[in-house]
Amino acid sequence: MSEDLPNLSDSSIPEMAVRKVDPAHEPPAPRRAMAIHAHPDDQEFTIAGTLGKWARAGTEIVSVVLTSGDAGSNDPRLRADSRPALARLREAEQLAACRVLGVKRTIFLHYPDGELVADLGLRRALTRVIREVQPEVVLCGDPTAHFYGNSYVNHPDHRAAAQAACDAVFPSAGTRLIFPELLEEGFEPHSVRRLFLHGVEKPDTWIDIAESIDLKIAALKEHKSQVGKTDIGRRMREWAAEDGKQRGLEFAETYRVMVLVDEA
Ligand SMILES: [Zn+2]
Repeated sequence: MSEDLPNLSDSSIPEMAVRKVDPAHEPPAPRRAMAIHAHPDDQEFTIAGTLGKWARAGTEIVSVVLTSGDAGSNDPRLRADSRPALARLREAEQLAACRVLGVKRTIFLHYPDGELVADLGLRRALTRVIREVQPEVVLCGDPTAHFYGNSYVNHPDHRAAAQAACDAVFPSAGTRLIFPELLEEGFEPHSVRRLFLHGVEKPDTWIDIAESIDLKIAALKEHKSQVGKTDIGRRMREWAAEDGKQRGLEFAETYRVMVLVDEA
């Protein structure tokens, strides 16, 4: 081993990865957080209570939306050339929802809806935005979640977005010589401290969203093309109540949290 190569990383050694999250204590709002999702409205359905709460506690939030939801309607009048107009509508709805939540910046990456693949190109694109924004926390779905109950097959775009997000967070965002072309573009490595996965079977972290459930519902209602006239508020309260039950909370959102940089 050359003496010119000090500080070799040992962070990929599994034995190092024994960290316990304390479920009795809600983690504090981070300084900067990034949410990564496949479609406009994914973030509102899943983590908007957390984002609304954190934004009001001073967290700078950046939302990354990989597709623009341009396949998100089965109106029989639509044709293939309707997709750009639908994308514009759904981006506008997402921006309105982000305004309600207090999101500082929304980034659309314009991948085609319904065709998302967790390939190296997507991982590189996410590595680039993570290195640029330098979030302390990244929130995304659970890439291993394929089936929920007996009636919902997790959308392949959701799985691809979650997989690419996790793989960009670790190891490529923090590893200097992965995607060396990003160094050439001026993006230095950045280590995300915590990864919040939502939609997990066995959560270890509960965020109390009693104070932000109304914000979540208001944000979701901005996705007018998707939620229409359904009583989305009632459904969201039922979901959040179900998630809170285990910890005695009126309304909660739940996560598995990966502690990637130990703050102790
Ligand atoms: Zn979706």
